[in-house]
Amino acid sequence: MQPSDVYSIIEKHNQLFAESISLIASENVTSMDVRRCYLSDLGHRYAEGKVGNRYYEGCRYIDEIEQMAIDLTKKLFNAEHVNVQPISGVVANLAAFYATTKVGDKIMSISVPCGGHISHEKVSAAGVRGLEVHHYPFNIEEMNIDVAETEKLAKKVKPKLFVLGSSLILFPQPVKEVKEIADQIGAKVLYDASHVLGLIAGKKFQDPLKEGADVVTGSTHKTFFGPQRAIILCRKELAESIDNAVFPGVVSNHHLNTLAGYVVAAMEMLEVGEAYASQVVKNAKALAERLFDLGYKVLGEKNGFTKSHQVAVDVREFGGGEKVSKKLESAGIILNKNLLPWDSLKSTSNPSGIRIGVQEVTRLGMREEEMEKIAELMDSVLRDRKSIDFVRSEVKAMKKDFCKIKFAFNECNPYSMQV
Ligand SMILES: *Cc1c(COP(=O)(O)O)cnc(C)c1O
Repeated sequence: MQPSDVYSIIEKHNQLFAESISLIASENVTSMDVRRCYLSDLGHRYAEGKVGNRYYEGCRYIDEIEQMAIDLTKKLFNAEHVNVQPISGVVANLAAFYATTKVGDKIMSISVPCGGHISHEKVSAAGVRGLEVHHYPFNIEEMNIDVAETEKLAKKVKPKLFVLGSSLILFPQPVKEVKEIADQIGAKVLYDASHVLGLIAGKKFQDPLKEGADVVTGSTHKTFFGPQRAIILCRKELAESIDNAVFPGVVSNHHLNTLAGYVVAAMEMLEVGEAYASQVVKNAKALAERLFDLGYKVLGEKNGFTKSHQVAVDVREFGGGEKVSKKLESAGIILNKNLLPWDSLKSTSNPSGIRIGVQEVTRLGMREEEMEKIAELMDSVLRDRKSIDFVRSEVKAMKKDFCKIKFAFNECNPYSMQV
């Protein structure tokens, strides 16, 4: 075996995505300006500690970069304190749990079928911290937590932390209302903005800090423009406990090459984030509406289907999420099966739904017109109106015009290995 064996597999992977329409809601593409940073010597170094106070020598330029990351993050999110060291969203949540709870504490989180993330559950970060997890009452019609029922339950359970933010998130969540409940029982509020961080930065979604969240965590690579890592935002009072929970708590090296990439991504957000986020939300709505018109069971109808980058569809009549996502993949449309609120965790292998995210195709320049076309292509596959091969060739032809990142300082092809 030789290095070229790996490179040729990567080329094939790039080709697959260049010819597909990717609608995975948790992914995005990074610009070449961001990627140039990954390849630098920074990826070989350590910088344990804080800016200006490191355990290793040789950190003077790393300090400059990390300070830029801190300043830009504060500016983008209007935050009193930020930590830019977590290397992923789960790691950020684990740190936030360390900083805000003790072993044995109770928390309230959104269950996975209702859209919550596994890291808010006993099987993942919440369990690692030894937390007892209770779930919010959820209103399926609203696709949101039920505040009145939450208040009743919270007075019985007395959680120490309310976790908000989801992986299936169609609408803003009642941060202010939950904060009021939390204040009555001396609890804190954590908002996990992993999915919607780019929409918040682009000022097209709720601002959880302003609405009362004590801590905000978030992956930087879903609707945000960054490489795979995460940030934490918090009030001054929590600054020290958050920083200690991150290092030495859950991070040693903090991936300095992608930290530099994150700095460039934050600059891109400041420059084009509002225009991008606005188009993302419009596109999601356009896709949802066209699917609904075609007769699909799109969730959230009562509230206009979506106010985020996501669309959720109940596809039980087409054989369920497993069958549908596989069939769409064979036609070049890549998305994921998803549990829906009425599903039990036992149906994870074939849940009721699919989740669609339009942030990546939006970054590649697609607009409402293309969203309608995508809905029609999906319909051609699911109702067997055209052959899979025919739809795959249509997808490929359509994608040809959308292989450049538009929302960036410099247009670039994300599927190229040329940096
Ligand atoms: C994706 C996601 C995470 C995990 O992020 P990673 O960066 O993959 O570790 C955490 N919370 C929510 C709500 C998510 O959607």
